Amino acid sequence: MRIYVHIPFCERKCKYCNFASGVHPEATQIAYFFALNNELRIASRFIAQPVESVYIGGGTPSSVNPKLIAEIMQTIKTHFQVNKTTECTIEANPNSITPEKLEIYKNSGLNRISFGAQSFDPNTLQTLGRTHTPEQIFDAVKSAHDSGFNNINVDLILGVKKFKNLKTNVQKLKESGLTHISAYMLILEDNTPLKHEVSLGKIQTLTDDESVDEYEKAKTIFEDLGFNRYEISNFAKSGFECKHNKGYWQCEEYYGAGLNAHSYVDGKRFYNTENLEEYMLKFGGGELNKNNEKIKKINKKILKNTEKIRFFNKKYKKITKFNNFFKNNTNKNKIFQTLKFRFAGERIYQFAEAVEHLTKSQKIEEYIMLALRTEEGINLNHLQKLGCDIKKEKAEEIKFLQAQNAIALTPTHLKIAPAFFGVQNQIILKLI
Ligand code: SF4
Repeated sequence: MRIYVHIPFCERKCKYCNFASGVHPEATQIAYFFALNNELRIASRFIAQPVESVYIGGGTPSSVNPKLIAEIMQTIKTHFQVNKTTECTIEANPNSITPEKLEIYKNSGLNRISFGAQSFDPNTLQTLGRTHTPEQIFDAVKSAHDSGFNNINVDLILGVKKFKNLKTNVQKLKESGLTHISAYMLILEDNTPLKHEVSLGKIQTLTDDESVDEYEKAKTIFEDLGFNRYEISNFAKSGFECKHNKGYWQCEEYYGAGLNAHSYVDGKRFYNTENLEEYMLKFGGGELNKNNEKIKKINKKILKNTEKIRFFNKKYKKITKFNNFFKNNTNKNKIFQTLKFRFAGERIYQFAEAVEHLTKSQKIEEYIMLALRTEEGINLNHLQKLGCDIKKEKAEEIKFLQAQNAIALTPTHLKIAPAFFGVQNQIILKLI
């Protein structure tokens, strides 16, 4: 099980972004975190599996008071099965990080940090509407490493302008402790200022062919520097592959808490509302309305004195004791767990915008599509468990692709050959 926590707050909206995020005052942020803690507590009652990774993303989680992040981590540690080795990531902007914040993050159990660097060129950063400078990227990575983070990622965007001095910049970051790079292609999303400016001819981005060239060049540089590609957009030093994302690509279950967060639990896919007020009303119990003066005072109190959060955590600790009592009696426990799961599950589903039961063929298609993006490829055993014997069902297609040397088939895996990653979509279409 993986847990994703969405923090929908940013310092400023980037020109290319259409995520569920925006700029909001602190009172709204506090009310949101109240609801978020509640959601996680409810969700914990219907998730019995150990948690392999936690990912606090956004938005810009580093833009909010770090105490709010520490409370979220406390709620997760109290109510879910996490341990010291669980990969716990936080996303951060290079300009919203301070040694004090980093220390709070570290003490709260976060052990991986991912910086939205995007580019090392000041003009490109400006084109994208980012709030940081190239220098702040180097400072942030160094500062994170100095604070004890030994698992550090930077996100880069390809396809805006050609990268200059990419090798020198990545080498410098590597010397400061960088372990992972995510390099995504620019997508011009509808209704974004960047798409509008491109359509007016005010900004010129790279053509598709130029973007592919940039990707190939970047890949070679990353690999020369010891960052191996393990998924089409992800490169890591050995042993630093992102466990959280690997879980998504292997179609493992995840629970997404927060605004518009998506989940996949017990064969069902569901997601929360993208309306911030509605989310806070649902999970905050309707108590915390940002326009109410009284509530603003309560919010401030919560932030200053975290007693209220502690009260809720204590309350749920009692429930944990109650659960443990039942654990010693197998039969009663079975009934109790089933009921607990059902009630908590029903509450979560009731709050969800839509709940979709994945069919067998949807599960198979999704697994093939996601797994083929990775260097590891399809685990044939896993696919068989989902109900598909691909070697039999796609015998002709596999024979054809093997003859082209486009795929490699081992007794346990089927994967795309590295030279054919650029045309992976055509290969995937043949195999689903
Ligand atoms: S920081 Fe990230 S989430 Fe926020 S506006 Fe920029 S791209 Fe979007």
